[in-house]
Amino acid sequence: MARIKVTDLRKEFVTGTKTVVAIENVSFEVSGHEFVSVVGPSGCGKSTLLNVLSGIEQATRGTVEITEGNRKAKLGYVFQSARLLPWRSVLDNLLFVQTGRGAEVRQRCEKYLDMVQLAHTAGQYPGELSGGMQQRVGIARAFSIEPDLLLMDEPFSHLDAITARSLRRELHTLWQETRKTVLFVTHDVSEAVELSTRIVMLAKGGRLVADLPVELPFPRD
Ligand code: ADP
Ligand code: ADP
Repeated sequence: MARIKVTDLRKEFVTGTKTVVAIENVSFEVSGHEFVSVVGPSGCGKSTLLNVLSGIEQATRGTVEITEGNRKAKLGYVFQSARLLPWRSVLDNLLFVQTGRGAEVRQRCEKYLDMVQLAHTAGQYPGELSGGMQQRVGIARAFSIEPDLLLMDEPFSHLDAITARSLRRELHTLWQETRKTVLFVTHDVSEAVELSTRIVMLAKGGRLVADLPVELPFPRD
């Protein structure tokens, strides 16, 4: 379980003479087995925050520390689309991101495929799967490297409501069973309430306007 410490973070993009402030003076800390959703309207800096946390973007000012004990935390990612390699089988898409090889690694990949109900697709190719199944593979791949922290950027936004609902349940189960820390970006507040232990809300201009615990456990019905 990772610890995230964001202090006085600012991120601006300068293009020509124009400066856009995407993140303005944001601070928060996360530690332990939390499911934190970052919510807010389009353009409020959610993806930028995730990109700064992952190191894809550099902060203009402020600091980000993501640690596990006294080392740097290992990160896993899930994006809006699964970004699978089309010429590799489903199982190979998981094996491809592992640092080790061997029977143990293979078993671990198979275990995570099984956890998203896709053990039977191991030998198939991504193009043979539905969008929802592909996203399941993307989620299994992210968990299969056993990261300390999972960063997710609107992973269900391209899916139909019924598929998204079952994937939310699976994600919640994975989160519970693996005891990982999850940081989940969504524009959908009800999705955030359904999944999260905590909600961080950004407003236009990239300001943090709320940081709230969520008490109700999932599933609610
Ligand atoms: P969200 O994910 O909440 O929709 P983003 O983080 O994508 O918001 O964007 C926040 C703001 O930063 C927006 O005004 C967006 O146009 C701007 N922005 C994001 N990425 C870039 C970039 N690479 N160059 C310039 N402006 C950017
Ligand atoms: P998609 O909908 O295809 O998953 P996202 O909206 O999740 O794309 O992309 C989030 C951000 O990551 C965007 O700013 C995009 O430009 C960037 N991005 C897209 N593809 C890649 C990639 N292969 N590697 C790194 N960044 C990417």
